[in-house]
This record gives sequence, structure tokens and C-alpha cells, in this order.
Amino acid sequence: MTPNQHEQQQPQSQFENFTASTLYCQKCRATTPVRERLLLVLPDKEIFDYLCTECGSSVGQREVTAGEKMMTEAVRSRRQQVRIPLRSLR
Ligand SMILES: [Zn+2]
Repeated sequence: MTPNQHEQQQPQSQFENFTASTLYCQKCRATTPVRERLLLVLPDKEIFDYLCTECGSSVGQREVTAGEKMMTEAVRSRRQQVRIPLRSLR
């Protein structure tokens, strides 16, 4: 499955508080901005849920281990355990 990822010019200001990524939403049949929600906090990792901002359905999840989290915050690495590539703000 390779959804077309169009370059879309979208106002980002509305989503400043979120991780402004876009994922393909099967319900909307489009690549939509997603909202990151902390789903579960475990001793060694955190699980984030990605919700479509259009319809609110879950479009993906991501696990962040403690080490990864530190790394992600440090260098914004792309070592995310999610099958769908997330597009970061940069
Ligand atoms: Zn949607």
C-alpha cells in the first residue's frame, strides 16, 4: 500500500501544539494532518496514538522507548516504529 503523498500547503498554525504530521486516513481517503495522543505510558516506553484531525479515527500508532524518546528529542531521528512514514515539521 503506497498512498499518494501530495505536497499540501496547509496552515500549520492551528496545529502548533501537535506533532504536525500527516498520515493517510482510510476513512477520509486522503492524507490528513494527525493529532498525536499519548495512549499508554509503560515503565520502558510510551505508546502514542495518531488521530485523524478530520474524522477523529485512529490512523496509526507509535511506540517510543525511553532510549528512543531521548534520541528523538535530541536529534529528531526517524527511528519510529510505525509502518507509515510520518512527515515531521522540518
Ligand atoms: Zn479521517
